[in-house]
Amino acid sequence: MMLQDKFGRDIHDLRISVTDRCNFSCVYCKSADPKNYFPHRDLLTWDEFLRVARVLADLGIRKVRVTGGEPLLRDGILDFMACLHRIPTLEDIAITTNGYLLPEMAKDLAATGPLRVTVSLDSTDPAKFARITRTPRSFEKVMAGVDAALAAGLKPVKVNIVLVRGFNEDEIVDFARLARRRDLVVRFIEFMPLDADHAWNRDLVVTAKEIVKTINPVFPLVEIPRRSPSETALRYKFADGQGELGIIAPVSIPFCGQCSRLRLTADGKIRTCLFSLREHDVRHLVRNGATDLDLAQFFTRVVHLKEPGHRINETDFVQPKRTMVYIGG
Ligand code: SAM
Ligand code: SF4
Repeated sequence: MMLQDKFGRDIHDLRISVTDRCNFSCVYCKSADPKNYFPHRDLLTWDEFLRVARVLADLGIRKVRVTGGEPLLRDGILDFMACLHRIPTLEDIAITTNGYLLPEMAKDLAATGPLRVTVSLDSTDPAKFARITRTPRSFEKVMAGVDAALAAGLKPVKVNIVLVRGFNEDEIVDFARLARRRDLVVRFIEFMPLDADHAWNRDLVVTAKEIVKTINPVFPLVEIPRRSPSETALRYKFADGQGELGIIAPVSIPFCGQCSRLRLTADGKIRTCLFSLREHDVRHLVRNGATDLDLAQFFTRVVHLKEPGHRINETDFVQPKRTMVYIGG
């Protein structure tokens, strides 16, 4: 069985945000105020997350990415990852983390099963990184986290960079150099209007075109063909060396027509788009006696309501109330 929306898009990817808590306060994501978290009772339990994941896997979800907030902060995350690996029809399990806790956790994380890891790292300059994450000494820990993930045999390890003009666009070539030197997959992400500070504006977005134009004269790039139509990143290798670059360009090159995603928030809401203005409460169902069949019917209905696109580039665009840290990127 396959979930399909009314525009004919097959839905086979699920993002699960396992917590809204985070130990960083990145300028493009979370407010500097840490006090607006959901009460613990509002967060789904591990069993509730697993039940939803199992029902969705039966409906054709093949890939799960675990995110947050910061997913490694929540107690029980390692057991949860191991349980996800036991869902037989899941083909691809991944996690996005800020990497701060990877030095201590990478080995145990690797022991849970094959896992693709993405670490967010928005500057190669420690002082600037501390300003972006609004967290002192964050750079050293995250770099040690990348090393720990590689040493633990986690593969591939990707590094995500959200480019924000005025903060880190001067480091584009440095990041390309990092990809080459460490044989990493480095992915630039265009800044999206999901920040708690509501500072986003179009001028702050460093576009895919600008990124390629900056790197090409220094390290000539060769485009890598897409592996699947729903792949979000434009991918490049270097004409003369190891490493890979990706660019995720939702603002300047929207990929909504190929979107295959559904999102589950930490407090049990299904979101059919990052930019949804409406969400669908699965927590109420799982806590009030819904059967697996009820849940399957609910997901089928919800998928039909998936928006055609994100509307960032429309004049009447409205930023959702829920910001990135509460959605799960
Ligand atoms: N805490 C983890 C981390 O930072 O990797 C996981 C959650 S974070 C919300 C997931 C991803 O969303 C990160 O790669 C982060 O850089 C990205 N992100 C956050 N806010 C964003 C924004 N306004 N625009 C684009 N990407 C954003
Ligand atoms: Fe936390 Fe990740 Fe958001 Fe940074 S991007 S504030 S690390 S959730």
